[in-house]
Formats: sequence, structure tokens, C-alpha cells
Amino acid sequence: MEIGKIGVVGAGQMGNGITHVMSLAGYEVLLNDISKDALDQGLAVIRKNMERQVSRDKITADQMEAALARITTTLTLTDLGATDLVIEAATERETVKQAIFDELLPHLLPHTILTSNTSSISITRLASRTDRPEKFMGFHFMNPVPVMQLVELIRGIATDRDTYDACFAVVEKLGKTAASAEDFPAFIVNRILMPMINEAVYTLYEGVGNVKSIDESMKLGANHPMGPLELADFIGLDTCLAIMNVLHDGLADTKYRPCPLLTKYVEAGWLGRKTGRGFYDYRGDVPEPTR
Ligand code: NAD
Repeated sequence: MEIGKIGVVGAGQMGNGITHVMSLAGYEVLLNDISKDALDQGLAVIRKNMERQVSRDKITADQMEAALARITTTLTLTDLGATDLVIEAATERETVKQAIFDELLPHLLPHTILTSNTSSISITRLASRTDRPEKFMGFHFMNPVPVMQLVELIRGIATDRDTYDACFAVVEKLGKTAASAEDFPAFIVNRILMPMINEAVYTLYEGVGNVKSIDESMKLGANHPMGPLELADFIGLDTCLAIMNVLHDGLADTKYRPCPLLTKYVEAGWLGRKTGRGFYDYRGDVPEPTR
């Protein structure tokens, strides 16, 4: 089936990135959020990021304007009913996502494919509460969306072949690469990445190293482009903790227990870049380690 119009729920860092790449690829995008500020800020971020692409000759100014003209924002979730594909990219909380699907379902066209950008929540469980588990799957972009090449496509137990193929075709049109993952907690990338980040926090917690030495060790000793603590701040420490909890609960193995220091940072509201402080303090000119 041919996808023409796409609905995106949530205009945060992932939702605006998804809207960015979809509109550039030629799709009409309807972007929804509960917050007018989030919609305004999301559009501003998209424009700024596209302007950067123009200045680097990655796209032309005409392509940018045409893409921006394909984006419409709305505070009314049910407006997304008239799209061919919905990508839910709201806050990583199952109750939030369920409420979104409950409200949207009666308004969806019969053929609309429903997907979630969740980093870790069971696709099969989310799908089972809808009227279309065979047309439901995980569409998991990486952050920052315009830069990262991979998209994980996750089939729930009931997802049918046509739905998978339609989503695969969208990934191809974006010029990105799809990795097919089975529906087990945190899928592929986060199943491997998050325990590494959590272990870096344990390394800090136990005093084996400090923020600077841990990040430098992994950059210079393992050739990682970013240190694990810097990366955790970039992803958001609340998101990291939520994913560790899903791994811990879903796989029932103590090797996934979230580090108490990660929990403490989240309790403090030090969630990383988005709140100005995490393992680094971003409020000055240069990020300063907080431990
Ligand atoms: P974010 O906090 O930047 O944005 C979430 C947005 O959702 C906010 O603008 C919020 O206002 C909006 N929202 C909340 N409830 C809503 C509702 N009922 N209806 C409409 N909008 C609502 O979060 P994010 O980092 O963009 O993450 C979004 C999703 O993407 C999560 O499921 C997350 O796990 C997933 N994800 C995140 C990353 C990452 O690196 N941050 C990577 C891949 C996937």
C-alpha cells in the first residue's frame, strides 16, 4: 500500500526529527502535540536544522521551503485520523501512549497503519489494546533523526506482512537503513547500548573513575565518538532509566538493575542536556562534569 500522508504524535526531539525527514522525503506531515509551545518549538528546530543542511549544501533552499510547506501542526489529536501512517513519538510512558491510541482509534481510516517510536515498550502489548494489531508495529528512529542512518522496524506478534513492507518502503524512501528486530524488551540497539550506559554509571557510582575519565576512556580506548555519560545526557536520563526498568522487569534478570546513581539524578530532575544538568552541567559556556 502507498503511504502519502503521515501523522506524528509528539513534537519533542524525536517527533520533530521524524517530521523533518518525512517532509524532506516528500510526505505530507500532520504534527500533533498537547503543548502549543512544543509545536512552535518543534517547528523552529526543524527550520534551524534544515537551514544548517542548506548551509552545508546537503539540500537546497527550495527543497527546504517545499518541505516546510508540507508540514501542518495541530493540537487536535483526532485530526491525524485521516492519514495513512501514524508514528507516535510522545513521552516514554505506557499510560500516555495507551491514552493517545484510545483517543485516536475511532477516528482512524480502516487502512491506517499505527506505529510507535517507543524505545522499549512491548509492541505486542500496545497493539493488543487497539482494533488493528495486524496493522500495528514499532517504527524506532535513532536520535538525532536527520543524522542517524538506522531505523529499527519491530513486528508485534500479530503484525502482518503488508504492514511491515509498507513501513520498510517508507524507510527506503527516507534513504535510511532498516534493521528488523523482534519484539523483546528494548529491541536491538537499546538492549546493547543501555546496559553499557548503566555500567558506566555504576563505574562512576563505585568510584572507579570520574565523569571525565570514564568518557575519555571510552572515546580514546574503545573509539566511541561520544563517552557513555555524555551520550546518556544527550538521550535524557529519564529515558535511560525508563529503558533500564523495562529491561529489568521484562527480562527478570538482575544484570539489568538500574544503577541507584542514575535513579538519583532523575529524582533530582537532572535529566541531561534538556534540563541543563545531568552528568555534565550545561549552564555555562563549556559543559562541566558534575562528579
Ligand atoms: P521528548 O520529551 O523530547 O518529547 C515528548 C513530547 O511528547 C513532548 O513534546 C510532549 O509535550 C509530547 N506529549 C506528551 N504527551 C502527549 C500526548 N498525550 N499527546 C501528544 N503529545 C504528547 O521525548 P523524545 O525524546 O522525543 O521521546 C519520544 C519517544 O521517542 C519516546 O517513546 C522515546 O522512548 C522515543 N525515543 C527517544 C530517543 C531519544 O534518544 N530521546 C530515541 C529513540 C526513541
